[in-house]
Amino acid sequence: MIWNLGSINADNFYYLRHLPKPGETIAAEDFNQGLGGKGANMSVAAARAGTRVMHIGAVGLDGKWAVERLLEYGVETQHIHMINVPTGHANICVAEDGENNIVLFGGANHEVDDRIIGAALSEASPGDFLLMQNETMGQEFAARTAKTLGLRVAYAAAPFEVDVVADVMGDVDLLVLNEGEAADLVQALGQPLDQLPIDDIIVTLGENGCKWVSNKGKSEQSFAAYPVKPVDTTGAGDTFTGYFVAALDRKLAMTDAITLAMQAAALMVTRQGTADVIPDLKEIQDHDF
Ligand code: ATP
Repeated sequence: MIWNLGSINADNFYYLRHLPKPGETIAAEDFNQGLGGKGANMSVAAARAGTRVMHIGAVGLDGKWAVERLLEYGVETQHIHMINVPTGHANICVAEDGENNIVLFGGANHEVDDRIIGAALSEASPGDFLLMQNETMGQEFAARTAKTLGLRVAYAAAPFEVDVVADVMGDVDLLVLNEGEAADLVQALGQPLDQLPIDDIIVTLGENGCKWVSNKGKSEQSFAAYPVKPVDTTGAGDTFTGYFVAALDRKLAMTDAITLAMQAAALMVTRQGTADVIPDLKEIQDHDF
């Protein structure tokens, strides 16, 4: 089972003729609200990969729909708290020429505290996974508590914050980074990835696939991506991570988990949208890779 301490956002898409200039008011041509946030995306991906996922997080009183949608997608929601702070959201303006700008508000995601995390993890069992990203609070407490309870800790260090990585590193078993985050980490710590005290590190490389640095096995292995025509790469990394951790939770070997995660992420980049369009296991099995 995966215990995912993660953000839940409303992705508000406003479709406009052009992006507003300073001081300008323009009417949107269309509007669409989707479920997003790195945490929610990873919970949905892991549930669609066929494992049990308990999301640990918070939404505002305006966020009931987001919790209902997570439930609909098979995510367990008993540890999502409803509090009197607006739900985290991203207001995304998309112009006709494809240009966009985004305003992010952390909202309820920033109210997740040690009490909420501790109460959830007290129900976990040794051997379960704790999964975390950087859009909530409490990673250090969560990682330490999880380790004490015998959980395995997986961490996607996005959006990248070196202080948080440094705080949790000693308790993390599995780190997932994209290429930019990996470069930032190596530069900030002044240490190559194969010198870090983390058993397994995955660096995702977009259309170039990914790399697995096994510090336990003292080896490094590259994997080519599945060739697809990309439409929208948003959420590819989150889909990869959710599927990957779910596959490990289902006891797949590391290389099989990486293969499945890359297949899920490849299908994801052929689709517009985030959590709502993450493929399920059957779609992956039915696809001719
Ligand atoms: P994002 O922030 O857009 O969600 P990311 O930067 O965290 O993504 P990427 O490294 O871009 O993560 O992509 C994650 C995985 O998705 C890659 O390892 C790869 O398997 C798959 N992927 C991404 N882009 C492509 C592509 N164009 N073709 C095939 N697979 C892709």
